[in-house]
Amino acid sequence: MLKCSLCGRRAVYDRRYAGVLLCDRCLAKSVESRFRRAISEHKLLSPGERVAVAISGGKDSIVCLHLLADYCRWRNCKLVAITVDEGIKGYRDRSLPIARENAELLGVEHFVVSFRDAFGATLDRIVQLARRRRTGLNPCTYCGVMRRSLLNQAARELGADKLATAHNLDDEVQAIMLNYVRADLSRLHRLGPIYSPREGFVPRIKPLREIPEKEIALYALLRGLKVHLDTCPYAGGIHIEIRDFLNKLEANHPNTKFMILRMFDRLKPELTRCTPRFEVKMCELCGEPTSTNICKACELLKQLGLSKRRKRLIC
Ligand code: SF4
Ligand code: ZN
Ligand code: ZN
Repeated sequence: MLKCSLCGRRAVYDRRYAGVLLCDRCLAKSVESRFRRAISEHKLLSPGERVAVAISGGKDSIVCLHLLADYCRWRNCKLVAITVDEGIKGYRDRSLPIARENAELLGVEHFVVSFRDAFGATLDRIVQLARRRRTGLNPCTYCGVMRRSLLNQAARELGADKLATAHNLDDEVQAIMLNYVRADLSRLHRLGPIYSPREGFVPRIKPLREIPEKEIALYALLRGLKVHLDTCPYAGGIHIEIRDFLNKLEANHPNTKFMILRMFDRLKPELTRCTPRFEVKMCELCGEPTSTNICKACELLKQLGLSKRRKRLIC
């Protein structure tokens, strides 16, 4: 029997990047302490703040919800949960009840905002239109831009001081690499544990950023959390190639992902210095904050003959 390097109980996980074996209890304790350390080290939350957490029903967001619920009880913060229903048939309709169930279990108020209500079309319809018009953009481009816009609006309407998302180490390192590959400095400098753009934008925090995806999955399993495990039917393209490349590097050279993250964090102040600050305007079409005259969501919708409705998401 392989033993936990910390307490001698039966090991369930080989943390290769640290050269240790961990039992179920030590792994769970380590995940929880990394979550709390990220919050205190990067000052992600202050006592008494109102936090909105984005939950899809997947393992990362459900773990984030449970950890935040524990933390908020202890630090007297108010937690609410938001799910964006993009309208992906056979996928989001299955994860949404799981998100709702977990929020109910914890007594966390849960709000659902949908692409259909906000944009008059589901993501499935948007993808159809984009293919017909040969825009050359992949579904994740539409989904990412529009979901960010709705999450920000919903969090602002709920009076949230912070918007927590469940990006883990793997997600963050993939995003770093993707923005390098695309030479997108403006998106690259927005990465990090906290991003506070300007008025109208709710600061976004990532308390799971230093926890590998595998450890979050194991933590969900060990705590017996109900999570949705399916993969989005639109997942694909360069994101997957970068993910596979990073996983191969990590398998052959353990600790690579943490090294990329650490290097990025050291470069970040320089990146911020050389990225011009933008002036906040109100989108001429939907009234949401943006750096240009028309926000990215409206620009994408306009190409498809759609538009964002000017109305509150949370009634
Ligand atoms: Fe949206 Fe792409 Fe994620 Fe699917 S994989 S939920 S389309 S961002
Ligand atoms: Zn142990
Ligand atoms: Zn707009």
